[in-house]
Amino acid sequence: MATTSRDYYQVLGVPRSASAEDIKKAYRRLARQYHPDLHTGGKKVEMEKKFKELNEAHEVLSDPDKRKKYDQYGADWEQAEAYERARQQAGAGAGGFGGADMRGGFAGGGDFSDIFENLFGGRTRAGATRGFAVQGEDLETEADLTLREVLTGVTKRVTLREPESCPTCQGGGRLKGRPCPTCLGSGSVMESKTIEVRIPAGVQDGTRVRVAGKGQPGMNGGRRGDLYLHVHILPDPVFRQQGSDLHVTLPVWPWEAALGAEVMAPTLGEPVRVKIPPGSKADGKLRLKGKGLPTAAGGHGDLFLHLHIVMPSSLSDEERKHYEQLKRLRHDDPRVDLLAAAQRG
Ligand SMILES: [Zn+2]
Repeated sequence: MATTSRDYYQVLGVPRSASAEDIKKAYRRLARQYHPDLHTGGKKVEMEKKFKELNEAHEVLSDPDKRKKYDQYGADWEQAEAYERARQQAGAGAGGFGGADMRGGFAGGGDFSDIFENLFGGRTRAGATRGFAVQGEDLETEADLTLREVLTGVTKRVTLREPESCPTCQGGGRLKGRPCPTCLGSGSVMESKTIEVRIPAGVQDGTRVRVAGKGQPGMNGGRRGDLYLHVHILPDPVFRQQGSDLHVTLPVWPWEAALGAEVMAPTLGEPVRVKIPPGSKADGKLRLKGKGLPTAAGGHGDLFLHLHIVMPSSLSDEERKHYEQLKRLRHDDPRVDLLAAAQRG
């Protein structure tokens, strides 16, 4: 369901004829610009909204199939698709009138749009009643994921409490003319139930994962509600996440930056050997292509290593000697620009 009335192409700032590569580039650029972590206060709220809008536009336009449908039906493409599917089901005689589920099930899925809905999706439900049958309530719960779980995908165990028919009175609510002592006459008791939900790799913070038919049971033959998992990506002590890119600060000695070096750098998987080029700047940045998180488009983001020059905590006599030699060489004053700027006011 669209959360925005804005045209997805406008959101990404690309023409309708844009190539998949153009869309990917526009998305990456804007995701870096809008990322809520980079903003504070009122700006952050505005950027969160823009970021959501951007992700929604990208999710549709980066998927050739969805994009085709969006181009054909516009913002209502999801309803159009549901109608199409219902018509096909009716045609195949599956389920029959009233019994046909308009949306595909989780297990039979593989269809991303079945499983995913945006957090602020504002899903409309086509009538809770179907004849006399009453559809069960939807359930919502949170799922916290580490970055490593986002990288690989993960199976989460979710414990749900739901009403079950009371075992003492078999759901009748009364025993020998009196209210049942177990369920106090209600006929049902709350039972805990654990289910496993597979969350695919590359899921984004704020995504809602829908698990069809795992909500509350329906009444009078009504189908069960759905379970929604709100995905939360936990902050990582080492890696900072920005969309599908990761950032990490890499300490280097001054001479490693000056002369170049081969050093080990952390990734979400095994550490990798990287070359620090000679003459690296103090705020230099290295990009490890494809070492970020999976993207919705099927690729991977990048890992950025931010060089951070560190000094030895104490100097040996030998080291002091080398610094003395360095000091004797002629260098420009590194404060020249600063002092001039301060003078200008
Ligand atoms: Zn009972």
